[in-house]
Amino acid sequence: MKIHDTIAISHFSRVISQLAAQQGQLEWTLEGQAAAQHSKPRLHLTMSASMQLLCQRCLKPLNHNLNVDQVYELVKDESEIPLDDDSQHEYLVISDAFDVLQLIEDELILAMPYAPKHDGTCDVDGPLESGEPLGAFAALKSLKLDRH
Ligand SMILES: [Zn+2]
Repeated sequence: MKIHDTIAISHFSRVISQLAAQQGQLEWTLEGQAAAQHSKPRLHLTMSASMQLLCQRCLKPLNHNLNVDQVYELVKDESEIPLDDDSQHEYLVISDAFDVLQLIEDELILAMPYAPKHDGTCDVDGPLESGEPLGAFAALKSLKLDRH
């Protein structure tokens, strides 16, 4: 079993409030692996997304890409999850109401940065972060002026 699909990021209602723009795509593949002699059936989820988040420092749009690559061992209920598990796998309880898009949205939220910020420095026109040394800020500003 293998499913591959592309969804608009704006489809995910719990993510949409963190977006600077309702654009961007999420591409995902879900591949099932049958149970082997010593292992449970598995699901392999890979997804990559591009989205526009809001920088928490300058409050301007920030392009963000993320990738998720996750293997789940499938169990019927939580009692099947070993307590002394030392494998690298996540467990996924499969019920009749299993919702792939719900799983994808959960993983997307986990993979998103809690407080996204531009790498290095933001555009200096933005509001100054409190506590940032003024000297560095002034030096940056003059650096920018020198380019003209
Ligand atoms: Zn920024």
